[in-house]
Amino acid sequence: MTAVDRSLNYVNISGEQVPLSLRRNARAKRMILRVDRLSGDIKVTLPPRASQKAVRDFIAQHIGWIERERSKQNAALVIANGMLMPFMGAQSQLVFSGVPPRKISVENEQIVVGGPIDQAPARLERWLRAEAKRVLTTDARDYADQLGVTFQRISIGDMKTRWGSCSSKGTLKFSWRLVLAPEMVRRYVAAHEVAHLLEMNHSERFWQHVAKCMPDFASHRRWLKKEGSQLMDLQFKNLIDGSLNY
Ligand SMILES: [Zn+2]
Repeated sequence: MTAVDRSLNYVNISGEQVPLSLRRNARAKRMILRVDRLSGDIKVTLPPRASQKAVRDFIAQHIGWIERERSKQNAALVIANGMLMPFMGAQSQLVFSGVPPRKISVENEQIVVGGPIDQAPARLERWLRAEAKRVLTTDARDYADQLGVTFQRISIGDMKTRWGSCSSKGTLKFSWRLVLAPEMVRRYVAAHEVAHLLEMNHSERFWQHVAKCMPDFASHRRWLKKEGSQLMDLQFKNLIDGSLNY
């Protein structure tokens, strides 16, 4: 049974109260339904004069689609106490201790995050960024030495569609999420960006520089293409207030 509550704030799906948000749009010709990819919340865009009954009927008609969309999104992607998270290529269990000090330690395949639990995901992300900067600086220095080049600086970001970049001014930028990947995969990205200091393109010559740093780079490049989206999708934000998109 599906029920949209009276206030149109929730849809009851198999006993779960799923948040519903409605947005009227003066230019909408018909209703548009979306399921938020991260939170699983339901969003409906309405023409100006759509009635509440029409909204209820519309959702009821599409409940099968909503359930399918919601099952695609994986709750395990949101960082939480006790879950397994990849770190340097190995699965480590997260332990949010809830007690001081506000420090992070890695021991016996566990990553222990101290301090208040509600801030643990954000604290963990800051720590991972710092770790990424530390290890990628070493990686990039190694390969810059091998290729006889220098870079200006390293910056760490969270780009949605790329793992690294190299500017003409010699700044190397890397996604902090590389610290989640296996070491050689991360090092491949470092070699790739350092090689761009010599060749600002993906020509044959460019790939020869990469191969000089890492003869078996192709397998690490493949790993990233195949498995990388899992690292990109991990969410460290607290989704309780569920308003990432609006
Ligand atoms: Zn490139």
